[in-house]
Amino acid sequence: MKAELIFTGSELLLGQILNTHAQYLGERLAALGIEVTLNTTVGDDAACMARVLQEAVRRTELIIITGGLGPTTDDITAETVAAVLGLPLVADQDSLVKIEQLFEKRGQKMARSNLKQAYFPAGSKVLPNKVGTAPGAMIEKDKITIIMLPGPPRELTVMFEESVLPFLAAKADQGAAMKYKIFKLTGISESAVQDLLTDLGGQGNPGIAYIAKPGEIQVRLSARAEGGRQAEELLADLSRRVKPRLDKYIFACDDEDLEEIVGKLLLAKGLSISVAESCTGGLVAARLTDVPGSSAYFKGGVVSYSNEMKNKVLGVSASVLEQFGAVSKETAMAMARGVREKTCADIGLATTGIAGPGGGTPAKPTGLVYVSLSSVAGTIFREYRFPGFRQAVRQGTVNNALLMVKQ
Ligand code: ATP
Ligand code: MG
Repeated sequence: MKAELIFTGSELLLGQILNTHAQYLGERLAALGIEVTLNTTVGDDAACMARVLQEAVRRTELIIITGGLGPTTDDITAETVAAVLGLPLVADQDSLVKIEQLFEKRGQKMARSNLKQAYFPAGSKVLPNKVGTAPGAMIEKDKITIIMLPGPPRELTVMFEESVLPFLAAKADQGAAMKYKIFKLTGISESAVQDLLTDLGGQGNPGIAYIAKPGEIQVRLSARAEGGRQAEELLADLSRRVKPRLDKYIFACDDEDLEEIVGKLLLAKGLSISVAESCTGGLVAARLTDVPGSSAYFKGGVVSYSNEMKNKVLGVSASVLEQFGAVSKETAMAMARGVREKTCADIGLATTGIAGPGGGTPAKPTGLVYVSLSSVAGTIFREYRFPGFRQAVRQGTVNNALLMVKQ
């Protein structure tokens, strides 16, 4: 099945908000085996919206249109759909009652304009809104299905998951569903990853795609059933060939988070951890504490950005700082040891480096980072030369520091 998505709202065109519906719906529909062939963003302008909708109706089987279902005068989606399909707008009694009740429950006075939200093209199936006032709707006419969803992301996702997904899943060709496998990598550049995999394929089916994030590269394998072979089978085949080449850079797969993996590991081993951070400025501690229940293993951290803090709080000797500098394996190791001893933790983890953009020298260029881990087994370090801008260097450092704990 082919689909087109229409996003309404002048604020999207003005760049005031990011169109997160495009990402969410695109991903959900692909997983259902529905091929999205075109996305259009249109302002709150009736003539323009009608034109876009008329064209889509001629081309495709499924149209999802988001936003513009609220009570204000710029909310014109339902009336535009009615006009394009040549149908009258009729009130949905259930929705009228529900909207009135919602205001009563909130103790607010309802403006008459709120009743507008209960009007849809005749023949629509109304989709209840469990987290807001504007219901959505779905209408099928002449082999075309138009689904209208509210703009606020939370309302849209709840409605999609509860009402739209079951409907589309029954309609879509499940055999065409796209399956994915994601490898999350760190410590390697996007082009270097591509070089490792060029002979294994690109955009086809199965396909390989690359997504660069600060300090992280995702390699996304995708497959849909073809030539009598299941999507899962094609994906597993490709995955078996790709993974060994990337193994040493992989820190997590699919929807796994590194901090969660590390947390589970520390819990299982009954170990505690403290961090001493220079170039990451607290980002390692933030990631570790993103995990609910992290207080069971995370003791705390020191953001020792200055030499003074490294010396006075962590006990890095003045001679080490002077002789080797703040960005050195000696300082990183002294920081890790220092925080471990001062906080009586099982593991001390430290970061120091040159995040840039300035501050680099030929001997110590921007992107040079040392990470050290101190434990009862001793103190080890790793040296990295991260490519890219400040955010990439810092996030790369966090991922590699956490990876060091995992390994
Ligand atoms: P409301 O009843 O809140 O007016 P609505 O269905 O009329 O809902 P809009 O007025 O178009 O929807 O959008 C409401 C809000 O939803 C926007 O201000 C914006 O914050 C959010 N929103 C709308 N479209 C998108 C989008 N494509 N991506 C992310 N957020 C969006
Ligand atoms: Mg609105």
